[in-house]
Amino acid sequence: MNQQVFRTLAPGATLGMLGAGQLGRMFALAARAAGYRIAVYGGGPESPCGQVSDLCFDRSFDDQQSLREFAAAVDVVSYEYENIPLSAVEYLESLVPVLPDSRLLKISQHRLLEKRSLQQIGIPTAAFTEIRNADDLRRGLQEFGGQGILKTATLGYDGKGQLRIGGEIDAEQVLEGFAGVELILEEIVPFQLELSVLAAGFAGGQTRHFTPAVNHHVNHILDCSRTPDERLSPSIVAEAGAIATQILEHFGVIGVFCVEFFLTDSGRLLVNEIAPRPHNSGHLTIEACAASQFEQQYRAICGLPAGAVTAARPAVMLNLLGDHLVHATPDRWREVFAMTDVHVHLYGKLELRAGRKMGHLTALADDVDAAERIARAARKALGWAGE
Ligand code: AMP
Repeated sequence: MNQQVFRTLAPGATLGMLGAGQLGRMFALAARAAGYRIAVYGGGPESPCGQVSDLCFDRSFDDQQSLREFAAAVDVVSYEYENIPLSAVEYLESLVPVLPDSRLLKISQHRLLEKRSLQQIGIPTAAFTEIRNADDLRRGLQEFGGQGILKTATLGYDGKGQLRIGGEIDAEQVLEGFAGVELILEEIVPFQLELSVLAAGFAGGQTRHFTPAVNHHVNHILDCSRTPDERLSPSIVAEAGAIATQILEHFGVIGVFCVEFFLTDSGRLLVNEIAPRPHNSGHLTIEACAASQFEQQYRAICGLPAGAVTAARPAVMLNLLGDHLVHATPDRWREVFAMTDVHVHLYGKLELRAGRKMGHLTALADDVDAAERIARAARKALGWAGE
């Protein structure tokens, strides 16, 4: 790793962000509060991150001249989504520190590599097999009791690029829909719930992780995160934290990353995937914790000490998709802002679209169920009839 990363970057330094969405925006807002400057790559001044950045490079990831200009303008680089072309990150890495470095990024971009790398270090995942042809698919399905989830190895998110198979299929026909892409078949994990741990590694070997969040998805998109959650026993909480720390130490991560888990019906923890960046399930740390996932991110990449991960109060985050905001009139917003335990985040996206993450609400209360009730009442107050 580039030793320059251990240099402390004091406020006033310019932090580069690859990707211009909401995660970059919340990072920029946190870092700017401490006096850092932000240069964003991959979006213009109207993008969620560009709106709150000092410099925008609205350029392509395969334009090396632009990447060189960006590297010259920043002191360190981080990123907000894992599907940034690896070649761009590796090129930047030769010019300026990029954190987390490309080792963890590379495996998180490829489901097969990710699962193999985790199993090599003894971390359990769902059973899986590589699918190169129809025979592989038939064999894999037979091995997993006639059902499974077929996923593209790369570029999948929020359930995109996935097909749940249960029952008789024509393997050749199924694969026609995925022509030319690498595929993985996973067993269908019978799980009680899904949880995630946000962890951070710092120069000099400090590590931190937040209390796990229990996550509920609707239509494959995260809807609700709760922490702490009484359905997680102390031993599961400890095990999830230990697995995140093991990954962190194995890959020498400096920066923030998220580990998503299944808690199976039989009580086992399996890692589903790793995201080498802050995560939607960690947004509630902004209000709930002494230093949020975004503060940990700028602290880590600037060579600063870890912030405290202690939570002041139980918290629940509900996403605000385009669907939730169709009826949000000023009077309805007024009602939500009158709920003083509710915190509103909107990402500055100009166009409301169904399924698009427009923002989120975080509610704090003395217990997590009360926080969820308050958050749901707030989303309902916005005119969303689905609560
Ligand atoms: P992913 O893109 O892998 O995070 O998958 C999106 C969602 O699909 C997960 O959050 C789970 O709810 C579900 N899912 C993915 N893989 C599996 C699996 N092997 N078994 C059961 N459910 C899964």
